[in-house]
Amino acid sequence: MKKMLFTCLTFSVLLISSTVSAENISNNNNNNNNNQKTKAMKFELPKLPYATNALEPVIGQQTIELHYGKHLQTYITNLNNLIVGTKFENVDLETIVKESDGAIFNNAGQTLNHNIYFLSFSPNGGGEPKGKLADAINAEWGSFENFKKEFVAAGVGVFGSGWVWLSKDNAGKLYITKEPNAGNPITKGNTPLLGFDVWEHAYYLDYQNRRADHLAELWKIIDWNAVSARY
Ligand code: MN
Repeated sequence: MKKMLFTCLTFSVLLISSTVSAENISNNNNNNNNNQKTKAMKFELPKLPYATNALEPVIGQQTIELHYGKHLQTYITNLNNLIVGTKFENVDLETIVKESDGAIFNNAGQTLNHNIYFLSFSPNGGGEPKGKLADAINAEWGSFENFKKEFVAAGVGVFGSGWVWLSKDNAGKLYITKEPNAGNPITKGNTPLLGFDVWEHAYYLDYQNRRADHLAELWKIIDWNAVSARY
C-alpha cells in the first residue's frame, strides 16, 4: 500500500513537472514570437521634444494625445504590419514613401508627414526664420509675411484631407505645394521642410471648422531651428 502511494505521488509529481515544463516551452515560444514581432516592428513613434500640453492654446493637449498618440501610432503600426514579407521590409521610410503605392504608401506617407509635423513645434517657437532659409523665403515671396499668407491660403485651399508643404528642390529653390491625403513633396524629388496638416483630426477639437484660424495660429509654435536644419 505504502509503495503504491509512493508510486502515485511520484507519478503526480512527474505529471506536474511535465505540465510546468510544457508551459515553459509554450512561454518560450511566445517570447520567441514576441521577439520576432519586435524585430519586425521597425518604425516607432518619434519622441516629442515637448509635453503634450506644452503647445496650448495653439494645439490642445487632447488633440496632441489623440493625433500623436493614436492617429500617428496607428499609421506606424499599420505600416509595420503591411511591410512584413514585402520588398519594403528592410527599407528606410523615405524610400518606402517614394516607391510604394496603395495602403503601404498611405501609411508610410502619413508616418513621414507626422514625424516632420510633430518635430516642427516648440513651446518657445514662433518668430521668423533666420539665415539662408530666411533669404530663400524673401527671394521667393518678397517677405516672411507674404510667405505666411500664401502658405495659409494654400492650406485653406486643400479640398478635404491633406497637407500644405514648404519644400526645396536640389538647387535650394522653395515651393509651396498642396498635397491630398498622405501626399509629401518627396515623391516629386523635393525635400520637405515644413508641413501643416489640414486633416480635420489636426484641428477640429480646438478650432472646429475654422481651418484658417488654426493655420494662422500655428506660426506661434513653429521651431524655426528645426525647420531650418532641413534646408
Ligand atoms: Mn494628422
